Amino acid sequence: MCGIVGYVGKKEAKPVLINGLLRLEYRGYDSAGIATIEDNHLIKVIKDKGRVNQLNENAEINSLTGTIGIGHTRWATHGKPSGVNSHPHLDNSRCFAVVHNGIIENYAELKEFLISKNYTFLSETDTEVIPNLINYYYENSSNSSLEGNEKFLKAVIDATKRLKGSYAIEVLSSLYPDCMIVVRKDSPLVIGKGENENYISSDIPAILSFTKDFYLLNDREFALITRNDIVFYNENAEKIQKEIKNITWDAGAAEKDGYDDFMLKEIYEQPKSIRETIGSRLPKDSISVIEDLALSKEYLESIKKIFIVACGTAMHAGLTAKGIIENLCEIPVEVEAASEFRYRNPIVNSRTLCIYISQSGETADTIAALKLAKSKDAKTIAITNVIGSSISREADYTLYTHAGPEIAVASTKAYTSQIVLLAILAINFAETLDINNSKVRELKKEILLLPGKIEEVLKNEQEIKEFANRIYKEKDVFFIGRGVDYTVALEGSLKLKEISYIHSEAYPSGELKHGPIALIENGITVISILTNPLLVEKSISNIQEVVTRGAKTFVVTNQELNHNFDKVIKIPETSPLISPILSVIPLQLLAYFISKAKGLDVDKPRNLAKSVTVE
Ligand code: GLU
Repeated sequence: MCGIVGYVGKKEAKPVLINGLLRLEYRGYDSAGIATIEDNHLIKVIKDKGRVNQLNENAEINSLTGTIGIGHTRWATHGKPSGVNSHPHLDNSRCFAVVHNGIIENYAELKEFLISKNYTFLSETDTEVIPNLINYYYENSSNSSLEGNEKFLKAVIDATKRLKGSYAIEVLSSLYPDCMIVVRKDSPLVIGKGENENYISSDIPAILSFTKDFYLLNDREFALITRNDIVFYNENAEKIQKEIKNITWDAGAAEKDGYDDFMLKEIYEQPKSIRETIGSRLPKDSISVIEDLALSKEYLESIKKIFIVACGTAMHAGLTAKGIIENLCEIPVEVEAASEFRYRNPIVNSRTLCIYISQSGETADTIAALKLAKSKDAKTIAITNVIGSSISREADYTLYTHAGPEIAVASTKAYTSQIVLLAILAINFAETLDINNSKVRELKKEILLLPGKIEEVLKNEQEIKEFANRIYKEKDVFFIGRGVDYTVALEGSLKLKEISYIHSEAYPSGELKHGPIALIENGITVISILTNPLLVEKSISNIQEVVTRGAKTFVVTNQELNHNFDKVIKIPETSPLISPILSVIPLQLLAYFISKAKGLDVDKPRNLAKSVTVE
């Protein structure tokens, strides 16, 4: 899940690489390294365990003056974080340097093959087989008539044909000091075109301050990049044409803008991101419009079931959407973790509609689950935030959340935008099915009011911070709620675990008595979400049960409560179907301030990375 960056141009590569790596650190941050080709045509590598800033403080870093280079920030999959396991990796002859994002599943077999050919290995990584395989094919190419860059290209193509698994790779060669070769399969890679210089990165925001013109590589497409040219090839080494895409994101969207952390900035961006998600999809005087989605009434009538498949926070957005779609459209919805769905032979056919949610659009399990449904004739819709991401190339239809770049590892604005988009999708299905009842109209009205209401919720920051400062030393926290409030409890609990490392559990309030209440003891914190007027009395009884056993209570509600709970955060009312969009915000802020009180790195929690591009 690492980040890779590259530069070929006329200025020094090092500052560009460090700048890009700092922006890609959310993808992995256990080690970092860069390699450049120097004036003497030798490849120079500087790498070590630790963060990009540490790399930048390395005494030797200023000796890198080359104008072509590659960089890597790692999230180790094979081999512990260490200097030797860090990328870039060199082949035995030191002629080829490689950075890699992904997993080479057959690396053991390839390593054995290379050892039998007298290659030796320094690291425990899967990646180190790649530069050595390139060297092997370079030295043993059957096609000796190839000249110049093409011989280099052919060696990279032949080597990658042997690889199983996922990869985005950048390759430098001291034999070809003016060019770089890149290729991807199931891991992201974009190429930014500049004036006499070109940029390579795992994502668009990392190089958005340098260019807005991008090429998006498809699986097994190669690019040979020089300062003045980018030439694309397929795996038969035939030239192919690719279209350039102009990206309209504002470069400032990938900056902290005066906030201490990206997470806090992204929490505060939610009124804006939701406005962007709504865009022109809910016109005042006519039915909803979802661009590029063409599902007919006959098709929707034929659907027996909808699957929503995702991972982590995106799956929690799916759980909320289940209630909305079932309520409005009366089509049964099942929500499942992509990592389970892909391996359990689910009952999917042409009468199943499958919706996949992934902020980055690169989540390996979600993409695999989508491919599975396609192979079983189901129609697929992808919901993602990243234009041109892998999932958008696989799905029948792609709907963009337009939430702007989300940099913090813990997802906040993407989650609320995903629910909004799924709610609009539910409205669109209902309208296509000629269901235009008061529930549909009411939901439309309420979605449009969300940005203003979120601003109201954000005003509770100080009170939430004070409560966070009271409980940040806790070891266990419980989250409870009923119905849609339970889906938010799951998300609040995940947020807390991710960035504060406090153990937390979420339960449906009614389930407490069936076991977990045994864990409630004096002083423990129970966080309750209570937004459904029909369930107020029942939920209050559940809160009282934990208070009786000595729990501290933090309640997020839109109801008037005459009870003496430790802290009540009052939020505005909205349609019960979408109340998580408001009720999650105090939970996001609580997790944030607890993490800050503990002095942790909010944006880059340990062991986690933003795009989970490995399964
Ligand atoms: N598998 C490689 C390693 O462990 C790359 C990891 C990644 O993509 O994060 O070094």
